[in-house]
Amino acid sequence: MKLLALLLVVISSLMASTAKTRTQAVTYEAFNNAIGTGGSTRFEKEIGLTYSLNTLVNASTFIWQTFGQGAGDRKNVQRVRLYIDDTDGVAYASNDDIHVNANYVGNYSGDARREIAGVLYHEATHVWQWNGRGKAPGGLIEGVADFVRLKAGYAPSHWVGPGGGDRWDQGYDVTARFLDFLNGIKAGFVADLNRKMKEGYGDEFFVELLGKSVNELWSEYKAQFGG
Ligand SMILES: [Zn+2]
Repeated sequence: MKLLALLLVVISSLMASTAKTRTQAVTYEAFNNAIGTGGSTRFEKEIGLTYSLNTLVNASTFIWQTFGQGAGDRKNVQRVRLYIDDTDGVAYASNDDIHVNANYVGNYSGDARREIAGVLYHEATHVWQWNGRGKAPGGLIEGVADFVRLKAGYAPSHWVGPGGGDRWDQGYDVTARFLDFLNGIKAGFVADLNRKMKEGYGDEFFVELLGKSVNELWSEYKAQFGG
């Protein structure tokens, strides 16, 4: 569904420091709190709040599709705010808010627009995914977020390839590649796993969905790619 035709972007200040849109009962707002920094200048020139909002809207739709969720069974989030901050690190999500570090944009060597799109898909996944009521391993949470980024076509070149890594719950690209393998065994596996993680978490979810323990599956995965 291309509801973006209906996209309304309100530039509410002369400095273009905020933007807002509302679609599918979710309000998206973006704020640049780093104006005046070198990172912010590059952000405004190469990415911008409007592109960032469009990307968040598209990411949310993509995430709901990936998780097989309709309006009735997705997380009840009505507002997602994006902040461009003058801070450290890359980005994080907290309380349905997404924070991106302007300095990361400023120092990024390469296509910053594509990189931030990938970062936004990852962080938006944190807004919408279930976390087993806080019991799921952090590495699995990060792996699901990077799985979505991978399926959206935003995997960066520095990621490990299929079969890479030492542990299934190592997180990020390692776990994302493993989840992609499992999703290949059973289409919709990641959606089913996320659904089960609404109420809690146990490693037995892998047995229930695929008939084998997660350690068996990891061994098969490593063997398949010569590991
Ligand atoms: Zn993350």
